[in-house]
Amino acid sequence: MDSIFNYTLEELEIKFTQNNFKKFNAHQVYDWIYKKETLDYNLMSNISKDLKQYLKDNYSLSLPKIIIKEISKDSTVKYLFEFNDNSKVEGVLMHHPYGTSFCVSSQVGCNMGCTFCASGLKKKTRDLEPYEMVSMILLSSIDSAERISHIVIMGTGEPLDNYDNVVKFIKIINSPKGLEIGIRHITLSTSGIVPNIYKLADLNFGINLAISLHAPTNELRSKLMPINKAYRISDIIEAVKYYFEKTGRRITFEYLLLEGVNDSRLYADKLADLLSGLNSYVNLIPYNHVEEFSYKASTSKSSLDFYDQLKKRGINVTLRHKMGDDIDAACGQLRSKVN
Ligand code: SAH
Ligand code: SF4
Repeated sequence: MDSIFNYTLEELEIKFTQNNFKKFNAHQVYDWIYKKETLDYNLMSNISKDLKQYLKDNYSLSLPKIIIKEISKDSTVKYLFEFNDNSKVEGVLMHHPYGTSFCVSSQVGCNMGCTFCASGLKKKTRDLEPYEMVSMILLSSIDSAERISHIVIMGTGEPLDNYDNVVKFIKIINSPKGLEIGIRHITLSTSGIVPNIYKLADLNFGINLAISLHAPTNELRSKLMPINKAYRISDIIEAVKYYFEKTGRRITFEYLLLEGVNDSRLYADKLADLLSGLNSYVNLIPYNHVEEFSYKASTSKSSLDFYDQLKKRGINVTLRHKMGDDIDAACGQLRSKVN
């Protein structure tokens, strides 16, 4: 049966009116589900018996199962969810001074094959449907009894390799009648599927775009991220310029610090050369060790040196501290452990 979480409010209105119910009934149902978190049609007290029956016959309210939940010392919560077909994906709930964010997966596995990433260890078995991404948020919000204010699409999978489903998911969670997650509170991270960056720009949503860059030269980036052979760094830069022109949103570049690989002063300078004059900022990310790979996180000294060098060169940069360090918080790690 189709899931009710697959529907935007507008689509539900159409379905309802086609079946002789009223448009506002769709608003009522949305309100029960997303505002009151009531996931039982019988308990939706202001809707008619007929509508309840129609809903029961046509739309499922089922959620995935939580099969692992780990809470770290800094209160980060890591979930492993299981869907009906036994597919497992991760989600991470994080507490910040500005609110609570949830990191959502977009695919089961990932085909991009980045050489440092646990998610890439398992080939993609399928894309996630919009309702599956929505239901992970609903479930973790119910489970934690917290309102989730920010979404980062940075879990397992490449979101721009599942473009249509991800766009629909964004529409559903952004609805003011639903989860009401502000467009500026949504961040999508991509390894750089260039044509879909243009498509996203043309939608003019204005979500935050983060690019996993990790290296300032094509030579090094191709070694870390095979996708770089298809879309070069200069293609990405052109695409993000377009994204900025269209949406006015400043681009984030993510840069993992890997000891002895991309963390020298020379690379800091090359990165500064690449990004100078661009409306962007750099997020330096500490590497979470993955057993299967030999990469190591940069030392604090080289991380700080790298940071300082970018600062000196006038680049906006932050050095991210690790969240959920004591649990398997890097994307793909919990899942690969279970598999
Ligand atoms: N596929 C998308 C989004 C998911 S990955 C992308 O690549 O952007 C989210 C971020 O986690 C990316 O920046 C990725 O490079 C980073 N990442 C992957 N493995 C990591 C690890 N072991 N430690 C820290 N960050 C990692
Ligand atoms: Fe996929 Fe992103 Fe991991 Fe690369 S970093 S393998 S694109 S999830």
